Formats: sequence, C-alpha cells, structure tokens
Amino acid sequence: MLLLKAARGRLEWEGSGIPARPAQLKPDMIPAAPIRLQPEDTVAPLAQAASRWQQHWREAVRDPRELLAMLGLEALAPRISDQAAAHFPLRVPRGFVARMRHGDPHDPLLRQVLPLDDEERIVPGFDLDAVGDMAARAGDGLIRKYNGRALLIATGSCAIHCRYCFRRHFPYAAETAARDGWQNAIAALRADPGVDEVILSGGDPLALATSKLAQLTDALQRIAHLKRLRVHTRLPIVLPERVDAELVAWLRALPWPVTVVVHANHANEWTAEVDAAMASLRSAGVLVLNQAVLLRGVNDSVDALAALSERGHAAGVLPYYLHQLDRVAGSAHFEVDDTTARALHAALAARLSGYLVPRLVREVAGDPGKRPL
Ligand code: SF4
Repeated sequence: MLLLKAARGRLEWEGSGIPARPAQLKPDMIPAAPIRLQPEDTVAPLAQAASRWQQHWREAVRDPRELLAMLGLEALAPRISDQAAAHFPLRVPRGFVARMRHGDPHDPLLRQVLPLDDEERIVPGFDLDAVGDMAARAGDGLIRKYNGRALLIATGSCAIHCRYCFRRHFPYAAETAARDGWQNAIAALRADPGVDEVILSGGDPLALATSKLAQLTDALQRIAHLKRLRVHTRLPIVLPERVDAELVAWLRALPWPVTVVVHANHANEWTAEVDAAMASLRSAGVLVLNQAVLLRGVNDSVDALAALSERGHAAGVLPYYLHQLDRVAGSAHFEVDDTTARALHAALAARLSGYLVPRLVREVAGDPGKRPL
C-alpha cells in the first residue's frame, strides 16, 4: 500500500500503511519531481514501424513556449508555470493545437492544456487524491468503488495532459496493472465473481498498442463472470487517428457489449476527423458516450454546453456525465461553484431535448456511485 509522505520538501507516495490524504497542501508540499506518463509499452520502439497515430503521438508539442509561439501568444509566456510543467508536463497533439484559435489567450482548448501560474496556488480542500482512488485499490492496478464494477489502470500514459485531471498526481509507476503483464489484476478479477463489468482507464487505455490491448482482453475473456467492458478514453477526440482499422477489428471481435466513453469538453474539440473516428467506433458495434468536466473559462455557459451536446450528437455520441471538478491540487482555477453549476444545468435542460442533457454529478470519495447535484 502507498502513503502520501512529505519528505525532502515534497510529497511522495510511499509503500506501507494507507491511505493518507492530506487535508490540504502546504506550499512546501507541492511535488517537485516530474511524473512519468510514457511507459515504454505505449508506442512502438523506434526500430519498429510506427503506425500513423504513433507518429502523431511522438510529434506532440511539449514546450509551453513553443505552443504559445504557434498561436501567436508569446505575450502569455510570463504566466507559464515552469514548476507546474516540471511536475505535470505540457503535452498536446499538434492536431489538437490546430483546433485552437490563433491569437486568442482565452481559447477554451488552450486553457485545458497550458500550465499557468494559477496551478501554484495552494487552496484548502484541493488534494493530491481528490476522489479517494488510493483507498479504493483492490490489487495492482485495480480500483473498486462501485458495485459490480472494477476499474483497471491500464497505463499511465495520455496523448494530452489536461491540467484539471483528477489523476495528475496519481502514482502510476507503482499502480499500473500492465507492470506485471496484468497478472495480479487478472487474478484479483478472477477471484471476485461480484465484478461483471471491467472499466479500462488510466491514463488513457488506448495509449497502449492494440496488440497489448488484445493481450489484456484475451486474459479477461477467460474470466466467465465478466459481462461488459467499458473503455474510458480521450484519444479518439484529441488524436482521432488512433481509431484505425486494427483498433476497430479488436473492438469488433470482443465477446462482450462494449461501451466507449470519450471525453470532450467543448464543441471546438470536434472535427471531421473526430466524426470519422466516432463513426468507426460505432461501426464496431460499440456504444459511444461522452463525458465532460464543467470547467471555468472552458465550458461554463449554456451556449458552450448546448453546443457540446449538439456537436457530439451530430457524430452519433450522446452526453453521459457533466462532472463537477474533482478538487485535485493545482486545479482550483477551473472550479465552478455548485449554485452556478445547477443553474447552468437547469438552463441546459430547458433548452435541449432530454437525451442531450448529461447528468450533472460529483464524485465523492466513499460514495456507492456518482452523486447527482
Ligand atoms: S486524458 Fe484523461 S487521464 Fe489523461 S490527463 Fe486528460 S483527463 Fe487525465
């Protein structure tokens, strides 16, 4: 088990007892060490032929100042937090950058990825483990929170680093199920007949090569009590080339009903390429839903939320959840208060057909499910 431990001026997860959630961070407890989000098994080694999506993955923008220069926003450079970027590096695919508005410092896509000095603020109640992941671990890489479901941390890698991510401090190096070739996670699932749905999460599970995913699902298929598979992924939105023929063939061959929950927060994230990726997913017989996070300065208006639902629906994707922000350290500047959130949601429900209105929820550590607001 892992503990959060303040040592040598920084917070660390450390093996032993459990679960230590600091009530709040102290200034000298901001983690200083960069986290590693690119295990070797995600993209093909250079010696192998990389597929198109893997090439795009490698070409991602990683330098905040390069990103600002691409957008003609060099004047924003003094707002960049090198401290935040050292801990949780900027990473954004160039195709996603192309959807940002040149010269607009308030672009809703830019705001999701740019490490700003706002992240250095210490705000009471914003923790490293915002949703109680550590207390819910059930074996290497498995998290058990809700009845019948087990979440499998398939990898720590993501194609994009979202500044509001509730797992931005997660100790992936110690908690990724792939570390031991899935053995411990598979053994724990096999031993628990109460689990009938596995949720592949991360990081982003589609960061794994399709051959790796197939190895995992081959092992899962030998567990008779599993009835459903869910995949939580942002890759088909931010790097739609990931939904290639090999991935579709893998999905189509799975023996369970499969739900893919993508993650888009703003209508501007949708492009013709994303539409094609959604069509490919649906052609594999997959149910595709979208979940979003309510984010100040990104989608905290009725117009933005309505446009998001309508744009997704045009691509055959229904809205699932609109999450209140998980209060993770470094993300306080994204928070929308509950009163405003409820008012936005009510206005959305008054404007759109019911099936276009996502459920407004918050994840509360220890609850048996997402809590409706
Ligand atoms: S893609 Fe998902 S897991 Fe990865 S940084 Fe963004 S929100 Fe977090």
